[in-house]
Amino acid sequence: MTQLIGVYGASGFGREVMPVLLAQLGDRKQARCVFVDDAGQDDAINGHECMTFEAFCAQPAERRAITIAIASGVVRETLEKKCIAEGILPFDVKATNALIMDEVELAAGSILCPFSTITSNVKIGRQFHANIYSYVAHDCVIGDFVTFAPGVKCNGNVHIDDHAYIGTGAILRQGTPEKPLTIGAGAIVGMGAVVTRDVPPGATVVGNPAKPLIKD
Ligand code: UDP
Repeated sequence: MTQLIGVYGASGFGREVMPVLLAQLGDRKQARCVFVDDAGQDDAINGHECMTFEAFCAQPAERRAITIAIASGVVRETLEKKCIAEGILPFDVKATNALIMDEVELAAGSILCPFSTITSNVKIGRQFHANIYSYVAHDCVIGDFVTFAPGVKCNGNVHIDDHAYIGTGAILRQGTPEKPLTIGAGAIVGMGAVVTRDVPPGATVVGNPAKPLIKD
């Protein structure tokens, strides 16, 4: 056995990522692919082995890598640190039908789900998630630990800072090179929101046009 690859998180998203990883690898015999989940709830999920992080580290393997399939960017940052401390490499998952066009810089640990697209001249930081049917268009700059839920339409010249979460079906209006549309660090864009103005760091916006969420 040479390579051991873990899908960290055996909940909803992790169970969607495992088949994408296996399809990407093609010949399953190249690597042993397992779920890693600290809840320790099951020995197997959907027919794939499931183990804690400690058990993963104790398995015999020449090379160990992990893809972190957990939607929370904050959790991904914590788990990335844990992996680095154990010398575990980040594994990039890219669906066989996900597209990356020209001059794209994509840092380690990304998950590009089926039908996602990164078009041209885009820069993206560590541990990026593009869930099914999401796209990032030209000249976007995206930070670390950013999460796109399914069907996010991120148009050209949008800048998104670290830890932002963009909800299902949100639409981000195209910016310009002189004035990109910006989504601040840790901001949350609610599902179906149509974002036409900059979103400040830490804000939650919802609706069309998107406005700050006022809690009752
Ligand atoms: N999890 C873990 N270690 C952590 C944090 C989370 O193993 O430090 C697991 C947790 O037990 C759960 C999964 O990751 O099974 C996260 O599931 P959740 O439904 O919160 O996220 P999603 O699958 O929607 O991204």
